[in-house]
Amino acid sequence: MTKEIFKFSNTYTNLPSNFYERVNPIPVKNPKLIEFNSDLSRFLNIDPKKINAENGKLFFSGNIIPDGAEPIATAYAGHQFGNFVPQLGDGRAILMGELFTIDGNRVDFQLKGSGKTPFSRDGDGRSPLGPVIREYILSEAIHNLGIKSTRALAIVSTGETVLRETPNPGGILTRIASSHIRVGTFEFFFYKRDFKSLKKLADYTIKRHFEKNDIIKNYSLLLKNVIYSQAKLISKWMSVGFIHGVMNTDNTSISGETIDYGPCAFMDHFDPKRVFSYIDFQGRYSYMNQGKIILWNLSKFAESILPILNDDINKAKKIAVECLEEFPDIFKDKWLNEMRKKFGFKKKKNEDIKIINDFFELIRVENLDFTLSFRNLSNLLTNKNEKEIKSQFKDKRRLDTWISSWKERLKNENLDLLATSFEMEKVNPLYIPRNHLVESVINAAVQNNDFSKMKELLKVIRRPFSKEFFNKKYKLPPRPDQIISNTFCGT
Ligand code: AMP
Ligand code: MG
Repeated sequence: MTKEIFKFSNTYTNLPSNFYERVNPIPVKNPKLIEFNSDLSRFLNIDPKKINAENGKLFFSGNIIPDGAEPIATAYAGHQFGNFVPQLGDGRAILMGELFTIDGNRVDFQLKGSGKTPFSRDGDGRSPLGPVIREYILSEAIHNLGIKSTRALAIVSTGETVLRETPNPGGILTRIASSHIRVGTFEFFFYKRDFKSLKKLADYTIKRHFEKNDIIKNYSLLLKNVIYSQAKLISKWMSVGFIHGVMNTDNTSISGETIDYGPCAFMDHFDPKRVFSYIDFQGRYSYMNQGKIILWNLSKFAESILPILNDDINKAKKIAVECLEEFPDIFKDKWLNEMRKKFGFKKKKNEDIKIINDFFELIRVENLDFTLSFRNLSNLLTNKNEKEIKSQFKDKRRLDTWISSWKERLKNENLDLLATSFEMEKVNPLYIPRNHLVESVINAAVQNNDFSKMKELLKVIRRPFSKEFFNKKYKLPPRPDQIISNTFCGT
C-alpha cells in the first residue's frame, strides 16, 4: 500500500558498501505529526490526500519503513572550524531513499533525528524539537526567497525526551535534498587514499547533478561547476543578510543548496562581523567572511579531487589552482548582480560598487536593520513615507548625499522610477523569519505545545515580498531586549 504513496527509486545504495552503512531508523515511543508540507509533497509526486495524521506520524518518524525504502547512513568526513575530522557521517540522520520531483529531478528523502547509526560516535542520534522547527522555518524561508535549499517535508514530535543542557522534547525532520553529497564526502575518500572510490563518487556526482551540463567524466569541469554554484549561493545569502553559522566542509553541499541549518539566522541590524554560532569566537563564519570561507571550503574540495584531476600531480595542482583563482571574480560578479537588483540598477556601471558599499557603511554606522533598509529604498524612490524613513538616520547630510548619488545613477539609466521601485520590491523582502520571532515560536511549541504561532510564521515567510498585511510584528526589527545574540539551542 505504501508503494502507491512513495515511489522510491534508489541509486546511492548501488554504490560500493564503503559509501554507507545500512541501518534502520530506531522507532520512537509516541510520534505525532506536527507539520506536513503539502505543496512540497505534490512536488515530490506524493499525493497529500494519502497522508494523514495516523500514517504520517509513522512514515515521518521512521516507525514504519515504506516499501521501496532502503535506509542507510552515509559516510563523510569534514573540516569543522578548520580542523579535519576523518570520519563524521550521518550520526543522527537516515537516508530512506530517493524520489523523483514532478519535473523529473532525483531527490533524497532523509529523516533527521532518527536514532543512532554507526556514525553516531558519542551522540544520541536524536534531535530536540526546537532545532527541527528552526530548520523547517529557515529552509522554507530561504526557498521562498528564491535561494537553493534543502526542503522540509514534515515535522514529527517523538514523545521522547532528548537530553542536552536541559531535557527537551524530541523531534524528527523529513529533509528533502538534491543529494546529501558534501565536500566532506570527497574528503572522506581522499583522506583514506581510496582513489577508486573517489572516482566512483565523482562519476556519480556528475551523473546526478551535472549530466545536463555536458561535463561527463571531465573532473575539472566538475570543479568549475561546484565553484560556480557555490559562488551563486553565497552571493544570494549575502543579498538577504543570511548567515549560515557553521560553514564546515561537511555542511557544504556539492549541489549548491543551502544545507544543515544549525545556528543560522538572518541578521537584523547590519553588522558585517555578525556571527550566530556561540562557539564562533574568531568570527570564522561571520556574515562578511562567508565569501572567503566558501573559497577555503572549495579549495578543500579541489584538493580532494587532485588524484582524479590528472595523473601527474603537478598538472592536477595547476588545474585546481587555475579553477580556484577564478572564484573571486565569479563571486564578485554574482554579488554585484544581486546587489544591483536590490538598488534598482539594470546596467553594469563602474560606480555601482561605491554606491553599494557607501550604503552598507551608512546603515552600519547608523545601526539600521538590513532587511527594512533595503525595502525602504523603494519608498524613497517614490517619496512615500520619506520623512519617516529619513527620521531613522542621525546623519541626515550623509544620507542625503548618498540618496542623490543613487538617484543620479538611476537617472543615468533613464529608468522609470515608479517601475523601478516596483521591481525592487520583488527582490527586497519585507518578511524574513526574524530571529526573535523564530525563538518565540520555538518556545511556544516546546514549552506550551502550541504550534499555532509556528504555523502563522510559516504563512508569512512563504510570502516574503508581498505587500499583504500581516501583523506588524512580522516586519519589525527586535526591540533591544528582544535581540538574540546567538542561536544556540542544543542541536
Ligand atoms: P552538524 O554539526 O549538525 O553538521 O553535525 C556534525 C556531525 O555530528 C555529523 O556527523 C552529525 O551526524 C553528528 N551529530 C550531530 N548531532 C548528533 C547527535 N545528536 N547524535 C549523533 N551524531 C550527531
Ligand atoms: Mg552537518
